[in-house]
Amino acid sequence: QEQQKRYRAWAEIDLNALTHNVQTVQNRLPAQTQFMAVVKANAYGHGDAAICQKLWELGVRWFAVSNLEEALSVRQLCPYGEIFILGYTPPEFAPELARNNIIQGVLSLEYARQLQSFAHQPVRCHIKLDTGMGRIGFRSNTPEDCAKALLPLFELDKLSIEGIYTHFAVADSVDADDMAYTQAQEDFIVAVYDRLAELGHTLKHLHFMNSAATVTRPNPRATLARVGIIMYGLEPNYPVHVPMELQPVMSLRSVVSHVKQVDAGTCISYGRTYTADKPRTIATVTIGYADGYARLLSNQADALLHGRRCPIVGRVCMDQLMLDVTDVPEEVKPGDVVTMFGTDGEETITADELAALYGTIGYEIVCGISKRVPRDVI
Ligand code: PLP
Repeated sequence: QEQQKRYRAWAEIDLNALTHNVQTVQNRLPAQTQFMAVVKANAYGHGDAAICQKLWELGVRWFAVSNLEEALSVRQLCPYGEIFILGYTPPEFAPELARNNIIQGVLSLEYARQLQSFAHQPVRCHIKLDTGMGRIGFRSNTPEDCAKALLPLFELDKLSIEGIYTHFAVADSVDADDMAYTQAQEDFIVAVYDRLAELGHTLKHLHFMNSAATVTRPNPRATLARVGIIMYGLEPNYPVHVPMELQPVMSLRSVVSHVKQVDAGTCISYGRTYTADKPRTIATVTIGYADGYARLLSNQADALLHGRRCPIVGRVCMDQLMLDVTDVPEEVKPGDVVTMFGTDGEETITADELAALYGTIGYEIVCGISKRVPRDVI
């Protein structure tokens, strides 16, 4: 607590919660499916150093990132890990990929040819299929056509094709149509994998499950499961709950800087969007939208103080916001810790709950906590 109070705002990273989430998933994975930790975007904002080191200790050997910069960061942290880039790397970096033993997703034949043209030594690759996400990857109408369209890849001698993968668009949905859509995506890639094997190309890896699919529809055909959000203890599709106990890894805390009594009629913050209806006690807190605490939460969200929910009143500013602490029985003083999300006493606010208040997802909340907020590992 004392160390934390050096900061005006900090994100607490609970590695015990991470351990719980990872072990729960690992225990449920089919025997032949390995855990691939999705640690892109600085481990969903949690800090890739602490997260990757802990994951390594927990026996995780596969790491997925979105780009080369992230891959090189993880390579420093896990010199012997398998690192996989899900998205685009400019092909001129092929030598960099090979030198650092990084696996690249291959998004099209044209992209593969470009990688080949820049590579000095073989680049390890997994083929990306677009089976319904509509983002990146090879698209075909039938698995047979798709397998045929992939054949020229195996003639590129500077590419070492080791796997094939796709990404689900609605695996987190419980709607019947969506579930059929996911099933069709899964059937498609498994059929392509099998067809390629018949054509003489048996690939070592086949992967398609994200968090939601890993817990709701684990498929033993997958050699890897790409697990992101549930590892960090958040729901893939709040308020739908995945059938697993999740422990949020990140809490966001700040401190009170100033406390005052105000009369009825007092306006608080920019725009005069809040006026006290009666005498109230207002605490100023040293966190704002520059920390990644969204301005859209103005007059919407609560924060926790002395284990009580207190409403945010008025607009969230760049570095500060105000709370109505009238109903807090204890004296509120500068230096008191405020929990923006996380647990304080008996009360909890989750990043998912905050996200729902303004129409986004927990992913965006944790990824959006800005660089100036130190991550305190506990
Ligand atoms: N695979 C790919 C290609 C992704 O883009 C993502 C996340 O965006 C994931 C896996 C992990 O998804 P989740 O965090 O829902 O587990």
